[in-house]
Amino acid sequence: MINLVLFGPPGAGKGTQSEKLIKKYGFVHISTGDLFRWHTKNDTPLGKKVKEIMNSGALVPDEITISMLKEELDKNPDANGFLFDGFPRTVGQAEALDKFMAENNTAIHFVIALDVNEKELRERIAKRRTVENRADDEEEKLNKRVTEYFSKTIHVLPFYEKAGRLNTVNGVGNIDDIFNEICAILDKK
Ligand code: AMP
Repeated sequence: MINLVLFGPPGAGKGTQSEKLIKKYGFVHISTGDLFRWHTKNDTPLGKKVKEIMNSGALVPDEITISMLKEELDKNPDANGFLFDGFPRTVGQAEALDKFMAENNTAIHFVIALDVNEKELRERIAKRRTVENRADDEEEKLNKRVTEYFSKTIHVLPFYEKAGRLNTVNGVGNIDDIFNEICAILDKK
């Protein structure tokens, strides 16, 4: 069983690379952004709670995010490996994830951080906004999302670096080249 965290700022290509990795390795994909969007679209009690927060571009509080994540893990007791996409985004979430993995006698084996500079990110998200029409990608929210990344989420990197689990991959370039680089890391160990 291999568990992987795909890490990176909004617009880094986590969704695109996740799809390819799932196809190749059969991971169970857990994207907290997709889960929150499902809840808001279906107007569930959780969706009602997080809608405004998401639309502002802010992070959903850890307590809510971690309990949704735990529920998702519990739904997949037979998974042969998880790919976490958009989670963890705070050190508290990273600690909770390690705890959940340990409780199931497993661990986060790989953290792949997609490195993309801020200018490229803003261009990508602006493009995605026109294609997917995602409400949280509107111009005024973009700044907040990028700020949340650089003020909170970036601190997750030293957490994994200290534990020797961090692998950084250049996220700018050809999609297949980036994919092959990630596969090389996973296949080496
Ligand atoms: P994403 O598609 O991963 O960029 O997530 C979209 C939005 O969902 C984010 O801007 C946050 O409001 C919320 N969200 C997703 N994942 C998390 C997380 N791990 N922690 C807090 N908020 C999250």
